[in-house]
Amino acid sequence: MKKDLSNIKKAKYLLDNNHCVAIPTETVYGLAANAYSDKATSKIFKLKKRPKSNPLIVHYSRVQDLRKDCEINSNFQKLYSKFCPGPLTFVLKLKKESKISKNVTNMKNTLAVRFPKNLVTRNLLSYLKYPLAAPSANIYTQLSPVSKKDVKEEFGNKLKFILDGGNSKVGLESTIINLVNKPRVLRLGGLDIKKISKVLKRKLNYKTIKSTKVPGQSKFHYSPGIPIRLNVKKHYLDEAFVLIQKRKKFDKNYFYLSKNKNLKEAGKNLYKTLRNIKRLKFKKIAVEKIPNIGIGQTINDRLKRASKR
Ligand code: AMP
Ligand code: MG
Repeated sequence: MKKDLSNIKKAKYLLDNNHCVAIPTETVYGLAANAYSDKATSKIFKLKKRPKSNPLIVHYSRVQDLRKDCEINSNFQKLYSKFCPGPLTFVLKLKKESKISKNVTNMKNTLAVRFPKNLVTRNLLSYLKYPLAAPSANIYTQLSPVSKKDVKEEFGNKLKFILDGGNSKVGLESTIINLVNKPRVLRLGGLDIKKISKVLKRKLNYKTIKSTKVPGQSKFHYSPGIPIRLNVKKHYLDEAFVLIQKRKKFDKNYFYLSKNKNLKEAGKNLYKTLRNIKRLKFKKIAVEKIPNIGIGQTINDRLKRASKR
């Protein structure tokens, strides 16, 4: 579309000049900057108020560009051909000659990389001479944004430009798998780990890592900023009640994640619903029990972190 192209050109101009731009992805909106630039990437941490110890995911549109920065192995190739572009992030060995900014990796010799599916962002990436470092476009520990409006709510005028690409189709962050040695799931996300297990022909488990030293695994995260009670059968009158399935009874406090217990649909609606509840000025949230299978595991992981205060 013509409008998309002029927006992409504007985004490119700002990114080429070391500014941050919010970009649409199928997982959540990202706060992007030139991954090769120290100046540009340092702005991401400042805007988000994110600790420098927390490394960033780098976004590519083509494997040939990734080869400049990372060592590729056979597990990567298997998963890439099955799931990319899509909501899967790989941690790979960083090449010595890579130009990735030290801000991105927090001085590590590994790099987290992803191939986003949103067409507007894929188009933007194809015009750039560098990959984009992009964490979620929200203030650190707050809810991730799944639309242009959400990003605007997070940063107001502090952000120069938000590239519009519609609502995020997955609505949850990517699944992260470390492929440097034996495959290890580092974060549950928008791709069910059972599907990854099948392709790799090995059982994959996810264990919550207790230490906050492991980036992205801080216990308090994804928070709407109000108390959340989980596995609730009956809500209190002053609570917004989040339900996995539509009910016959009408109640102004009811918020549905899906019509009919569809966990993918529920994942897509999770952050949107929590943000909506916050906008409506509810002071508390109660959530019905969510089945702990497939994407339900990711939803429960996010809700658990969001409920920690
Ligand atoms: P996000 O906060 O959604 O941008 O996700 C970034 C997350 O990716 C971090 O918090 C880490 O969990 C993970 N990550 C990024 N780089 C690395 C890395 N080199 N090694 C391990 N995990 C990483
Ligand atoms: Mg985030």
